[in-house]
Amino acid sequence: PVEPVIMRGPVVKGFGRGSKMLGIPTANLDVVPLKSQVDSLAPGIYLGFASIRGETHEMVMSIGWNPYFDNSKKTIEPWLLHEFPDDFYDEELAVVVSGYIRPEADFTTLEALVERIHRDAEVARTMLKNTPFKETRELLVA
Ligand code: ADP
Ligand code: MG
Repeated sequence: PVEPVIMRGPVVKGFGRGSKMLGIPTANLDVVPLKSQVDSLAPGIYLGFASIRGETHEMVMSIGWNPYFDNSKKTIEPWLLHEFPDDFYDEELAVVVSGYIRPEADFTTLEALVERIHRDAEVARTMLKNTPFKETRELLVA
């Protein structure tokens, strides 16, 4: 577990690296207003909950260095483990980062990366149903 970190903001455009085409869309948050929260988190894969449109969902999230900015800027990319009928750009998203899964890793193939992310999602689903992670859902209730 990590000390839960809460971040809120409108969903922004990412860099279209094709996450959605891989079946793994990530709802990016702007890191600039969230600098202090982001700085407290090492790059890696995390689990937690995300609220959008008045509902809270399990999520798995990558915090990473963005190659687009010469790795000088981090990205916050939660994948909400829920099927949405449409996109939600510009809508208000709140996330609570509740636990750490693993560091960032290099994968030799896209297939290996996608497979690993699906395993991360399974880990997240399982852990989030148990203490102390499941209780962090309440932190998002305004
Ligand atoms: P971008 O590079 O703009 O972030 P993505 O391919 O990562 O594009 O797709 C992200 C967008 O997909 C989100 O901003 C959101 O509007 C939409 N989306 C739909 N379903 C989900 C989901 N389950 N988790 C995250 N984002 C989703
Ligand atoms: Mg994205």
